[in-house]
Amino acid sequence: MGDTAKGACAHNRYAKLCSKGGEGSLKKQALSKSGSTARAEGMSTIRIALTANSIAALRRAAADCKACDLWKTGTQTVFGEGASNARIMFVGEQPGDQEDRAGRPFAGPAGKALHQAIAEAGIDEAEVYVTNVVKHFKWSPAERGKRRIHKKPRYSEIHACRPWLDAELRVVKPQVLVCLGATAAQSLLGRTFSVSRQRGQLVESPLAPMVTATVHPSSILRAPDDESRHAQMRAFVGDLQKVAQFARRRAA
Ligand code: SF4
Repeated sequence: MGDTAKGACAHNRYAKLCSKGGEGSLKKQALSKSGSTARAEGMSTIRIALTANSIAALRRAAADCKACDLWKTGTQTVFGEGASNARIMFVGEQPGDQEDRAGRPFAGPAGKALHQAIAEAGIDEAEVYVTNVVKHFKWSPAERGKRRIHKKPRYSEIHACRPWLDAELRVVKPQVLVCLGATAAQSLLGRTFSVSRQRGQLVESPLAPMVTATVHPSSILRAPDDESRHAQMRAFVGDLQKVAQFARRRAA
């Protein structure tokens, strides 16, 4: 089977997930919340996520999402952005401190590293859509000072936010889906997925015709010295060059 046929199958399988199993699991998710208000909010969120046909409409709806408690701590919903017909979708974990304030994904230092690597890999930004598996900033106050310290989202929060990501995938239909970091990779590709062992490899998935994972760019910023930071950035650009090749292969 050629790439095009495989891609069609992938999207058909994905459409079935959305219309059957996806909706069923989403309903189960809403019903597991306690109280009629939470149930009503959850079902309303699900209906919008399953039916809206543009990123703008999804973004407007997600601005009022209360499907998990993170809306209470984040300043605002940080929805994905980029071309609504992008060939490549990058998915990270959640917005950080600067993204939370700006209301835009990958607007802080990690985003700067990502966009630099995208340019160095020869990927056209006009073909890119960036988003996160969780759309509110989860944080706790620093012991001293006013810093907001990033906290990893729980599985239940990732699960609650999944309808939005599924809806973005349904609307954008990327040819290549790139998970950035372990949280995105494990939530989309399975809990046993290892970014350190499997980065840059193509993974079978109904989510897009070509799916792969690499590190989150924030990990590059945490490198202990300049030398290792440069080495990690080179490896990251190398992974994105493979992504560019995947995208070219799909277009051929
Ligand atoms: S993190 Fe996602 S599910 Fe939770 S309130 Fe925000 S948009 Fe809704």
